[in-house]
Amino acid sequence: MNNLFPNNRVYTLDGGFSNTIESLGVCLHPKLWTGLCVHDHYKEVVKTHQAFVRSGADIVTTSTYQMSFEGYQSENFNKEDSIKFMRSAIKAAREGSTNSSNSSSDSDSKSKVKVAISVGPYGAILADGSEYTGAYAFEYGAMEKLKSFHYERLLAFQSTDDHDDGGDLYACETIPCINECKAIIHALQESNAINQLPVYLSLSIKDNKTLNSDESLDEAVRVIEELTSGYDIGIGINCCSPSVVEEALITIRNANTSKNRVLLAYPNLGETWDASDRDWKSNSGINIKEYSNYVNRWIDAGARIIGGCCRTTPEYISAVNEIINQNRK
Ligand SMILES: [Zn+2]
Repeated sequence: MNNLFPNNRVYTLDGGFSNTIESLGVCLHPKLWTGLCVHDHYKEVVKTHQAFVRSGADIVTTSTYQMSFEGYQSENFNKEDSIKFMRSAIKAAREGSTNSSNSSSDSDSKSKVKVAISVGPYGAILADGSEYTGAYAFEYGAMEKLKSFHYERLLAFQSTDDHDDGGDLYACETIPCINECKAIIHALQESNAINQLPVYLSLSIKDNKTLNSDESLDEAVRVIEELTSGYDIGIGINCCSPSVVEEALITIRNANTSKNRVLLAYPNLGETWDASDRDWKSNSGINIKEYSNYVNRWIDAGARIIGGCCRTTPEYISAVNEIINQNRK
């Protein structure tokens, strides 16, 4: 991660993919959510990535969060189709990051935009809100199931020839519990993905000391440290309330014994997910000004990559990027 994001500077990550593509008039699939966008709305996927690049994002994240063999199979797509969708999402993100028409930025900075392959938690495919609790990771036999789920998908993401875009890094995100951290790390190692691209692991938390599973954030960071010693992986938090980010970054820093990790933060707007409605409760999220007002504090707390999660728009990322740029001067 430090090689990909050098010079101790702060980098801008993109924002919420699903809300941004919906704003282009795309209706998400009721079950596969963003997982079918590259199939049905490829151009809009590219446009969504472009919108974030124009907002100043140094990193765009692929629309692969919800993609899985299990999900596609339930909608009668075979394994070959599933792999095609996954690879197509990487291609679309690259297209969006290298071909941002109407961009006023210079072409040099565009060529530096990185493509992060989103690796969502197992709960994301269950579509029952359990990605916010990690309940599935405590069932009998869960570890083996989780490991194999992540292993198969990581293999599919890897490019098989020189013409195939393999992305620039893996963004393993919204991880709700320690068991899934362990499963992902094992899968990254067994699939050799961890030796091919930089990786970051981002945890979903309910407060500055607690994962969404009610386990300790401090303990999760120690487990990650122990299982990935020798690897330069990033550690972060996402899809949490912006109000807990600063203190959570301090918790991570204090637990992070090797002290050289790239730290990330990309919270949501502080709203609550309603699993039964499959939507965010009300429009109670904080506005752009309130969101960007936090950014300096996150930088001071050690964040090296900052962006937004659910419901953040290109306008939010533009405001975040402005604060980051002010800090670079
Ligand atoms: Zn989110």
